[in-house]
Amino acid sequence: MKILITEFRQESNSFNPTNSTLEFWMQTGEYEGADVRAQFDGYPCAIGGFLHALDESEHKPEVICGTVMACQSGGVAEQSVMDHYMSKLIPQITENLPLDGIFISYHGALVTTEYDDPEGEITRRVRELVGNSAVISVATDLHAYISETLVRNTNVVLAYLTYPHVDYFETGYRVAKLGLECITSAVKPVTAWVPVPMIVPAAAYNTLKGAFKEIIDFGNNLKQQRKIIDFSVYQMQPWLDIPTPNSSVVVAAYSQEDAAKYAQQLAELLYAKRHEFSLQLMPIAEVIKRANDPQVMKPVILVDSADSCNAGAAGDNMAVAAEILASGCEFRAATVVNDEKAAQKAHKLGVGARAEFTLGASRDKRSQAVTVQAYVKSLHDGVFRQEGPAGRGMTQRIGLTAVLSVGNLDIVVCEWMAGNGDPQLYRAHGIEPTLYDLVVVKASTSFRVAYEKLAGIICEANTPGSASSDLKHLPFERLPKNIYPWTDKNILDWSVVFAPIAE
Ligand SMILES: [Zn+2]
Repeated sequence: MKILITEFRQESNSFNPTNSTLEFWMQTGEYEGADVRAQFDGYPCAIGGFLHALDESEHKPEVICGTVMACQSGGVAEQSVMDHYMSKLIPQITENLPLDGIFISYHGALVTTEYDDPEGEITRRVRELVGNSAVISVATDLHAYISETLVRNTNVVLAYLTYPHVDYFETGYRVAKLGLECITSAVKPVTAWVPVPMIVPAAAYNTLKGAFKEIIDFGNNLKQQRKIIDFSVYQMQPWLDIPTPNSSVVVAAYSQEDAAKYAQQLAELLYAKRHEFSLQLMPIAEVIKRANDPQVMKPVILVDSADSCNAGAAGDNMAVAAEILASGCEFRAATVVNDEKAAQKAHKLGVGARAEFTLGASRDKRSQAVTVQAYVKSLHDGVFRQEGPAGRGMTQRIGLTAVLSVGNLDIVVCEWMAGNGDPQLYRAHGIEPTLYDLVVVKASTSFRVAYEKLAGIICEANTPGSASSDLKHLPFERLPKNIYPWTDKNILDWSVVFAPIAE
């Protein structure tokens, strides 16, 4: 048995005006062959999960490690990025035909300058190459956009079941196990997909508590009772300006009837709870007031999700920092900003220098910048390991990094931000969040696993940016308004599409 594994993963944000270039992608590297094992085997990522399931399989498959390319979320990817990936993947496939399976890890919410649904298009081309006898099994993020094209060209598609995402490895493992089952078992699993016409702000739900947790619990119950093999509930991330958006549900079962029945139940449950996915955002000034209040437990975490690089925003908005500085900043505060030029300038000046810096709006001209007199407190290479629990031990690279102090405000200035939800973004640069009164976190929900343990209080602030939770005020041009929240029908008109059953 011969299986090829590969990854092509980025989350796009249509509202970030800076396209994601091949150069931007290459900052996180590109791997193939033995380097894939060296980099990902045993690590908490989807590729790690693929490798584990394949290596422990009694069928002892030969594993071909195809190209792995993953990038920090960002603006729409240049088509040259997808073309580059395909130029690597196509020969890797054709040189290894016939393949029994190809297991692919996507984010699922990528947009390129040519394709609204590149994952669907890539999978369609892969299917053409490998034929119907090979099993295509796909792992995605829970925030993926799943299209009919993707479903019709795969046999298996499954997503993370947690948000904050902590099951990257487990998802890779589930996808590989089910892919192997499709290849080897006499009774073939069936995948049913039901689209749901809604998008909601990503920060409005999680699987720790509330409505979304209830839906995931419902699916996990079906799994435990062996009514289904597996499932996914997709909430399409809402910053894609595409003409056929949807959230959706996927169920894998041993009959079309069961797969469709339970996918419908989950889809109806998701749609019925749509009004529960709303957010109460706090004005920035209100959060600052809490940081100043000795009665409030510290640190106050100010969530700036609208400028979250995890959601593809530029990470260069100093709107919060400007208000902190204007308030007089009598408390200790920490924030972070993407600003290549400022980071390089600090490195040129050296530790201990004082100089004027203009910080922010380095990538998105609509972002707010601040001009400050700052002290260069420390300099770093920007390479650190995440503490997790999500992705614990994985390496992040944020380029040349400096900590600048402006009075009581410490600012991590980096060339390109990553690992936003992980406290090591601060700790690795000498900023211990628990010793601060106010800490700005530019993330939607990922931060909760780590920060809920250390936070005094968490305040979701009403900040500007490309990943704003205020969907009705985002500048959509192509997205049709026949979906929730623009259209609010009482009943879900549902239809089901089945992925082809493995031969
Ligand atoms: Zn996600």
